[in-house]
Amino acid sequence: MTVTTDPSLHDRLMALAERQTAVGEVFGTAAADPVNVPMIRHWTAAMGDANPVYTDPAAAAESTHGGIVAPPAMIQVWTMPGVKRKEGQAATPVDDVLAMLDGNGYTGVVATNCEQTYHRYVRPGERLVPATRFSALTGPKQTALGEGYFATWNVTWYSGEEPVAEMLFRVLKFRPRTGKAPDGGGGGGPAAGREPYPLRPAVNRDTAFFWEGAAQGELRIQRCAACGELRHPPGPVCPSCRSADRGYVVASGEGEVYSYVVHHNPPVPGLRTPFAVAVVQLPEGVRIVGTVVDCPPSEVGIGMPLRVTYRQMDDDLILPVWAPRES
Ligand code: ZN
Repeated sequence: MTVTTDPSLHDRLMALAERQTAVGEVFGTAAADPVNVPMIRHWTAAMGDANPVYTDPAAAAESTHGGIVAPPAMIQVWTMPGVKRKEGQAATPVDDVLAMLDGNGYTGVVATNCEQTYHRYVRPGERLVPATRFSALTGPKQTALGEGYFATWNVTWYSGEEPVAEMLFRVLKFRPRTGKAPDGGGGGGPAAGREPYPLRPAVNRDTAFFWEGAAQGELRIQRCAACGELRHPPGPVCPSCRSADRGYVVASGEGEVYSYVVHHNPPVPGLRTPFAVAVVQLPEGVRIVGTVVDCPPSEVGIGMPLRVTYRQMDDDLILPVWAPRES
């Protein structure tokens, strides 16, 4: 790592962080809409949460809540700002710190911590207001992604005077490594060089079989040895029968796009933007997330037939990725 931080930049960053910490809690813009059932319905549908206390007035009335409540994990949704801050939307004490990091080359971002505390359920009709306080800036640290600073802040959501939920949020803002230029060859491809690919999968006792399979050109899907159910991503226990006995099957390698996003920003180490990441529906029944290669991201669409292929990312890592196939 050849990058060193300009000492005066470090001092200026720390001074700004100290000032923003001293500011304390700053109230933001109130939620555009009060807590409401249509938004709850869309969220629970997207998350696959069928608990009727969130959407069914009759069932909710019978429940311990006595009426519809919002899923606690939805708390951020109510006051989520757009990608770009709109005219009139309140600034937070975090903005200037992140802007200064961005302006000095720390353009990469990855969230490292999100800890939420729910004081109570919120109900339709409540209009939430977020308040943010900047907590800490630490660094510079050398990380696998590059040199960076960790920024931490806390958000409290209020309903009237009452705090109903809190969140600690921490991001690593880093200088993406340059060095050998990654070559996407049409997006989402691997680095061509032998530099270690910076984003390593978590390999553990539950997932090792998957990565060993990828290294041999096999797409392996975990299978419960007791009841036969397939599951992905791999885990220690069968969600159907709770057996810890497991094996795997080798998938056909075909699939189709169930859903996808095209990633434009922020920069991702080792990948050239934009690239498409798809949720791939396998004929075996499970879904798997992967990058779509050999195809402009603009041509990726739902239902597109795909075939798995393998990319050597560096000396040790082979990643399964997905390429278009003739249907
Ligand atoms: Zn099972």
